[in-house]
Amino acid sequence: MVYQAASDRYEHMPYRRCGASGLDLPAISLGLWQAFGTDRSYDSALERIEYAFDHGVTHIDLANNYGPPYGAAEEQFGRMLATDLKPYRDELIISSKAGWDMWPGPYGFGGSRKYLVASLDQSLTRLGLDYVDIFYSHRIDATTPLEETIGALKTAIDSGKALYAGISSYSATKTLQAIDIAKDMGFRLLIHQPSYSILNRWIEQGSPSLLDVLGERHMGAIVFSPVAQGLLTSKYLGGVPDGSRAAEDGSFKKAFLTEANLAHVRALNAIAEKRGQTLAQMAIAWTLRDERVTSALIGASSVEQLASNLKALDNLAFTPEELAAIDAESVDAGINIWEDSSKVR
Ligand code: NAP
Repeated sequence: MVYQAASDRYEHMPYRRCGASGLDLPAISLGLWQAFGTDRSYDSALERIEYAFDHGVTHIDLANNYGPPYGAAEEQFGRMLATDLKPYRDELIISSKAGWDMWPGPYGFGGSRKYLVASLDQSLTRLGLDYVDIFYSHRIDATTPLEETIGALKTAIDSGKALYAGISSYSATKTLQAIDIAKDMGFRLLIHQPSYSILNRWIEQGSPSLLDVLGERHMGAIVFSPVAQGLLTSKYLGGVPDGSRAAEDGSFKKAFLTEANLAHVRALNAIAEKRGQTLAQMAIAWTLRDERVTSALIGASSVEQLASNLKALDNLAFTPEELAAIDAESVDAGINIWEDSSKVR
């Protein structure tokens, strides 16, 4: 049957303006980092993406190496764009990135012009698109002049292969430098994509903090892993379920499940219950409490998770007492596996 998007898809999702640009993003966006490669069926991926779009999630976030294997998420999504989603291309904001490892040898990772320009071409081929909406430098590369990396983003825009550009996991200092370099080159960086959750608040820290920089320079922020890859749910309170991300022990290290971390998760779970939310819903809503955050970028391995997490939008307001209670449990849980990039000053 031909997919037809829900006619009420724009009725419930709030859209937020991305910094000083003309672009709105949904308060919740969907990323295809994990559980959208060939490890899951195409039908399951399609079901989740169509569910998201039917509920106003207009932004799908990708990178060259999302899978597994690397490239598979873009290929699967490209198949959808060529078929079911074809009539909806102009209703979608599609992003990709390059920076982490993608192909062997010295030109398949880092921040060089050689890597970024070639990788974007490869992503467009996999996606079957002429352009992506946002192209990111996926991480800082301290061994490459920042002018070269930011210049490659400008080339992506000038060549018509990206409409906007962003950076991901850059420190506050490097972000300021990147903003100024782009300005000198005659363009604006649209958005920053950092990790952020109740258990990983690095973007609030330092003077100025990354959030301060983004607010003052009117750059958008899309925060990833707001559910801390699943830690901020009740799923790990009774052990490690089969098929969960922690069971795979890849990006979600079993070492994150310390008694101390789980005690905070238990306490946060109780706060969420009092609000009439699941912990995942509260965790997503919490990242959106600051207006400098444009969108919360979630993942989902099932349509049930997605459906439940999108209900975070039903209660985005926090009382000062709730925020104080969350703060009391909000420790750095040692889960920011991207900090090598965000620590480069
Ligand atoms: P997340 O929303 O924090 O975690 C999603 C995972 O948590 C799910 O796949 C699921 O894992 C588990 N989960 C979520 N809701 C659940 C629920 N209600 N009940 C039980 N388990 C639940 O986000 P993420 O997937 O880590 O990252 C989201 C997106 O951010 C990525 O797809 C990517 O687009 C982006 N990202 C960007 C970077 C970067 O460097 N720029 C890095 C990482 C991510 P299981 O069911 O598999 O256990």
